[in-house]
Amino acid sequence: MPLSMPSPSLAPTPVLAPPPSLSPTHRAVDSDRRRTSASAILRSVLAHGPVARSTIARLTGLSPASVTDHCNRLTALGLIQEAATLRRSNGVGRPHVPVDLDDSRFVVGGVHVAVPYTTVALLDLRGRVVGERRLNHGEEGPGGSGHQAPPPGPSQVLADAAAGLNALLADAPDRVPLGVGVATGGWVDRDSGTIVEHPLLGWRDVRAREVIHSLTGLPVHVDGHARALVNGERLFGRSAGAGRSVLHLFVGNVVDAAFATHDEVHHGPRSQAGSIAHLPLAGGTERCDCGRTGCLQAELSERTLCRRAREAGVIRTSDPMHILAAAADGDPVAVRLLLHRARMVGRAAGLLLDVLNPDTVVVTEMGAVHREDCLAALREEVGPDRAAAVVPTSFPDSVLAVAGGSVALDVLYRDPLSAPSSAPSGTSSSTPSSRSSGSSPGPI
Ligand SMILES: [Zn+2]
Repeated sequence: MPLSMPSPSLAPTPVLAPPPSLSPTHRAVDSDRRRTSASAILRSVLAHGPVARSTIARLTGLSPASVTDHCNRLTALGLIQEAATLRRSNGVGRPHVPVDLDDSRFVVGGVHVAVPYTTVALLDLRGRVVGERRLNHGEEGPGGSGHQAPPPGPSQVLADAAAGLNALLADAPDRVPLGVGVATGGWVDRDSGTIVEHPLLGWRDVRAREVIHSLTGLPVHVDGHARALVNGERLFGRSAGAGRSVLHLFVGNVVDAAFATHDEVHHGPRSQAGSIAHLPLAGGTERCDCGRTGCLQAELSERTLCRRAREAGVIRTSDPMHILAAAADGDPVAVRLLLHRARMVGRAAGLLLDVLNPDTVVVTEMGAVHREDCLAALREEVGPDRAAAVVPTSFPDSVLAVAGGSVALDVLYRDPLSAPSSAPSGTSSSTPSSRSSGSSPGPI
């Protein structure tokens, strides 16, 4: 699966007959057009399947002959199949055999590296999690002080992630992996497959694509988790197929954002777009490592929330889910801390709405995802005119797994015809190659 692809569209111009003699330029254009058409058709089947080919033609603007041709290719690749039931249009005429995704065979691996743990998962072609494991980076220190032991370095974390993926694949011998997506926060350069800088983990220039590939033998794609989740929402979320502008605001330990218009996520040079960690947030009181006060990430980070909750005696750990649990048990201080954070997240969303004016803001933030009062507080801070534009993530129970997997699924849906060449031919998923590289993934 190639790394960078031209913009696909759900409604490409109809495919024209190829000219009689093809120059290299013509061939390139033809190849782009085929890829774009195949992408539009597979997206259409994902969104509407089971769906008749005639409906796909209408939805995509492609000719019926072109749709039939592409459906045959996608069927041969094992990505789609004819649906089991026959449908007749109006009960008369030729039966329309609908096609649907074949979600029984292929999976992608997903890796999400958070500060305290890594999530590894397998996702099917519908973006559904079919297997998941959480790999902790270290035990919490003694006495419940909330301080954690120094986290393992990137070599260890990525080796553990690859081993976790291989174990999940071994548990699913009937599944064929197409590739692996790796997502994390901070500055991630998709083109080079590098985690350029993740200050909270202390990682710099970590060649994640190379390392995970060497340990799994699979094609690997790497991206920032906010961008990955924009793609996850586009493909599998509530706003799927909306084709308009979407901003994703990810608020965990790391805080970052991603922006997409018409199916294209903005990366910018070296994928640096979306670093909002040090945007000043009005009313912020938290000292930031950069020396200023009230930077967005310092203010909104789960670390800050947990520290405040410990100081207030709400929790004794560094697990933000314990604050949610305390709030659910009726602890008024826990509720107040969560509401305050939700309001500050709303302030950040309002700031980004002012700058980018997206149709939708998707927020991944613990409180807003799990508590109605937090979502309401967040929306109130955004303001009545724009509150309806703010929605929580479509993946409340699997957001990290979906982030990782979406990196690979996005590549597949943009260029489905290249899927088989990247699938290990005739392999069992339980035989990862390149194990010979040993326990050390090498310099990263
Ligand atoms: Zn700062």
